[in-house]
Amino acid sequence: MEENEPKFFCDRMLGKLAKKLRLLGFDTVYYPRIDERKILERVGERILLTRDKEVYRKASTTGLKVYYVESDDWRSQLRKLILDLELYDDIKPFTRCVECNEVLIDAKPDEVKDKVPEYIYKTVEKFKVCPRCGRVYWKGSHLEWIKRDMEKLVGEWRVE
Ligand SMILES: [Zn+2]
Repeated sequence: MEENEPKFFCDRMLGKLAKKLRLLGFDTVYYPRIDERKILERVGERILLTRDKEVYRKASTTGLKVYYVESDDWRSQLRKLILDLELYDDIKPFTRCVECNEVLIDAKPDEVKDKVPEYIYKTVEKFKVCPRCGRVYWKGSHLEWIKRDMEKLVGEWRVE
């Protein structure tokens, strides 16, 4: 992972956006129950994403990187964020765990045999696994879904 990749810190109200950002490979911290003071303490070098005007104001006056999210719909949030911050080229789907933000590692079919449906085990060659929670990811329906969705959001987009 490169050092200059954008890293995010999602405010409480942005759980869905956080998961979608991880799905696209962005390092995204999100705590569902965290108070305003703790957010401001922990955000560090990350870009704080918030829908709370008060949090936005405080963060910007203390010199934190902060982005105000206007929409309450995750699709619009994601689309606008990608366009505003020019994130399109940084999108790396299938690299990060949606649940714990951990970077996924390669796994052989035999290593995930007990964790995936039999037809998946038989037809898919490449798997990735989260080193923290053990969740298994594979290209296929997952990626097709992301691709379709993202194309609708930000236009033509190629998956290698
Ligand atoms: Zn995980």
